[in-house]
Amino acid sequence: MTEATELPIVAYGHPVLRQKCTDIDALAYPGLYELVMNMWYTMYNAGGCGLAAPQVNVPVRIFLVDSRHTFELLEDGEREDLFDGDEGIQDTFINARIIDRGARTWTDEEGCLSIPNLAGEVERPWSITISYLDGRLEEQVKTFHGLTARMIQHEYDHIEGILYLDYLNKRKQAALKKRLQRIADGKESARYPMLFADKTS
Ligand SMILES: [Zn+2]
Repeated sequence: MTEATELPIVAYGHPVLRQKCTDIDALAYPGLYELVMNMWYTMYNAGGCGLAAPQVNVPVRIFLVDSRHTFELLEDGEREDLFDGDEGIQDTFINARIIDRGARTWTDEEGCLSIPNLAGEVERPWSITISYLDGRLEEQVKTFHGLTARMIQHEYDHIEGILYLDYLNKRKQAALKKRLQRIADGKESARYPMLFADKTS
């Protein structure tokens, strides 16, 4: 068995984060097992709870979500507020499509490994239904709620070329502009290796 490799995480400003990612032929995709293994390894080394393939510079529809670790860290009251129908998940989503979004929304703070040292309040549906292949390449159609659904939506946005920043109001976006430029220029330090856009091309 091969050792997992830590991959650099693509920083804000790199064009791959704005690409709409493509489905893969999961049975024929070369190195799928290694890619997913390396993504889990990279995500945990960076202290993240989700990671999408474009964040490691691979523009395909694969992402990971671990809400179980967060569930385990929370007190009972917080679990009741934030989790609904699951005790956290730890799952791989391949070729995912959100097929339904609940009408009820809620707002919570989000951050992103590609946008270090920043956070913002994002309004999202409480519930979503999503079809995908799991890590065993089995077809799933599941409905998720609460924090698990939020994490899935954040990662799903990555494979659609969307960042949580896009949901912030114009005033907040303007306020963050300089910080975002610092991230794109490699002037914000992260605890993990990052990959920056090639400024020469
Ligand atoms: Zn993110």
